[in-house]
Amino acid sequence: MTPLIIAARGAVKAGAHHLRVSESDLDRLLNPEREVAFRLPVRINGENRFLSGWRVQHSRALGPGKGGMRYAAGVNRDEVTGLATLMTLKNALASLPYGGAKGGVAVSAGRLDAGDRESIAEALAHALTGVVGPHTDILGPDVGTGSADMDRFASAWADVADAESGRAVATGKSPDAGGIKLRTGATARGCLQAIRVARERAGISSDAGVAIQGFGSVGRELAELLVDDGHSIVAVSDSSGGVHDPDGLDVNRLVKAKEDGGSVTDVDADRISSVGVLTVDGAAIVVPAALQAVIDVDVAENIRADLVVEAANGPTTLDGMRRLDRRGIAVVPDMAANAGGVIGSYHEWCAALEKRDCDGQRAEEDLCERVAQSNVDMWDRAEKDQIDLRTAASAIAIERVLDGMRAPR
Ligand code: NAD
Repeated sequence: MTPLIIAARGAVKAGAHHLRVSESDLDRLLNPEREVAFRLPVRINGENRFLSGWRVQHSRALGPGKGGMRYAAGVNRDEVTGLATLMTLKNALASLPYGGAKGGVAVSAGRLDAGDRESIAEALAHALTGVVGPHTDILGPDVGTGSADMDRFASAWADVADAESGRAVATGKSPDAGGIKLRTGATARGCLQAIRVARERAGISSDAGVAIQGFGSVGRELAELLVDDGHSIVAVSDSSGGVHDPDGLDVNRLVKAKEDGGSVTDVDADRISSVGVLTVDGAAIVVPAALQAVIDVDVAENIRADLVVEAANGPTTLDGMRRLDRRGIAVVPDMAANAGGVIGSYHEWCAALEKRDCDGQRAEEDLCERVAQSNVDMWDRAEKDQIDLRTAASAIAIERVLDGMRAPR
């Protein structure tokens, strides 16, 4: 099993054991309702290829499955199942009428041009006909995919399966195809709300230093929002490495370096390794916003921050979680920290079903309220039951999923 599925199952088990759920309920919570493996005949880089892919619907107890579709060379069934499990918990914690799902295609996303991506979207639409749909399972962007891929999939799916409801089968689309403008910033905006709640609960000042691993769509936007909120960003990294300045980095310069096609390491500051960003001195808050399983037991032992906020999905291994817990470092888990994106998607989906434009402002207000409320609920439950935040978030989510499983259909 990969570290991500071990961590996702660990989160389910922690919440389920706390609630003392029955063995049969635990079995349903740990194992997905439906797993579809497929092979996609595509044309990539001028060659005919046959790509492996998976769509996993972990639970549809609270509504249709909802989760991203990632394109990544190393993606596999275990990883997709772990991510689908996390989506079940995340959607339930945010009180969305969704179950949890995820998909993946094993392909190196960096090498794909627009034609390659079109070919994958068309093959996916054929493979997923009868599997996904606006009331069954809704796709969204994930690692290696973006709004253009969701536009392509929605359009191909409308051609292949159902012209009427093409817009509602995928979210995170571009505004011209029915997406909402806010979506790009939704995850970072939600993450800011989670940090504000955590700051208050953990007694961390609003001008504290923050270190962020990853400077992609989530990490970059979050850095900008945090600076606006009064924080200094003392360290950041991307796939080329990291930079560190205890007095605070110039985020505008970092953004410019990325926009120019470079790396955060192009700015004038002390170099630091990508892992070093997580254990840097002078950061009260550390935000992994790039990869999964980066906080293992060794990194957890060396983290000097008071708070870890998981913007990435599954950034902490099960051993890493235990070590952070033992060291008394609070961790806002992924399911509570990065739900902003899927809440934005929910508004896009409602608008598509009702064949109207989405009110971006209303969506943004709702996502801020939902993330703040679910984080307050999590901190309250952790304090009341004397448990860690991940167990508290998982327990709240599981109670809702079990209610959904028992509700008459
Ligand atoms: P992205 O591809 O836009 O950015 C990823 C960033 O990580 C890039 O800056 C990349 O250079 C960096 N990176 C890659 N390898 C690295 C390494 N070894 N060390 C340090 N940095 C490295 O991805 P994203 O959309 O920002 O997503 C980041 C994480 O957040 C993922 O785990 C994703 O699942 C999660 N997430 C994203 C969203 C969303 O709306 N985009 C929603 C929920 C969760």
